[in-house]
Amino acid sequence: MQDLSFRNSFRTFCLPIFSAIFRRARLTLFFGSFFQKMAAPHHPAEVAGGKKMWLEFRYSMSTVLIFALIGFGILSLKMRATRSSTTISPSRVGGGFIVSIALMMLLHDAWFYWTHRLMHHPKIFRHVHLVHHRSANPSPWAAYSFHPIEAVIEAGIFVLIVFTIPAHGLALVAFLIYMITRNVLGHLGIEFLPKNFLNNRWLNWHTTTTHHDLHHKHFNHNYGLYFTWWDRWFGTEHPKYRETFEEVTSREKESETPSRHGY
Ligand SMILES: [Zn+2]
Ligand SMILES: [Zn+2]
Repeated sequence: MQDLSFRNSFRTFCLPIFSAIFRRARLTLFFGSFFQKMAAPHHPAEVAGGKKMWLEFRYSMSTVLIFALIGFGILSLKMRATRSSTTISPSRVGGGFIVSIALMMLLHDAWFYWTHRLMHHPKIFRHVHLVHHRSANPSPWAAYSFHPIEAVIEAGIFVLIVFTIPAHGLALVAFLIYMITRNVLGHLGIEFLPKNFLNNRWLNWHTTTTHHDLHHKHFNHNYGLYFTWWDRWFGTEHPKYRETFEEVTSREKESETPSRHGY
């Protein structure tokens, strides 16, 4: 009976997670090759860096493996602890469904900002976070290019979510898709948002590709992931973020073709 319950839980919860992780790998590969081709005329040196891309690919794959192992371990523990699949009951799909996704985003945003700042500590940076910062001109290949220790720290969000937010399995899958998409977009190296994006007060608290690009270039600013709140509250937003965004979006509009950042 208990085995059956665990099997049901595995089907409803773990399989979608594995499927999302598999899609993440494919998405990264797809966006990687697609946007590298688009950017080729602007940054030949970046594209020629096959060694760098191979390094990013290997670290990304190790991250996917670590995420999968930790995700599976945490979910198995949760299932065994609750001894039933009722905590992931379809009845939780409702008003709470959207709220749980929003909570996951907020929690992840805070987790990312503070662990990210911690990893920039001079005594930690070189050993843990330098791998990700090897990409001064990030590409989607760099999105999950983490040192294994950083991958474990990043995976800490799964532990927090699974044990603090009651959520339907599908809400978790939706959150994972959002997480992957935002991370890939943050590393495109191409600003695809319109010039007036930062003038819209309903939108300008979302991070942009330029926001994270500035972090890869200047290190000590723009630590945020999904939202700009933490950087604004703690004075770490790059002083020229707005200026750079406007410059990049104007330039890209003039040329009418997406171009990689170069500032
Ligand atoms: Zn990055
Ligand atoms: Zn960093």
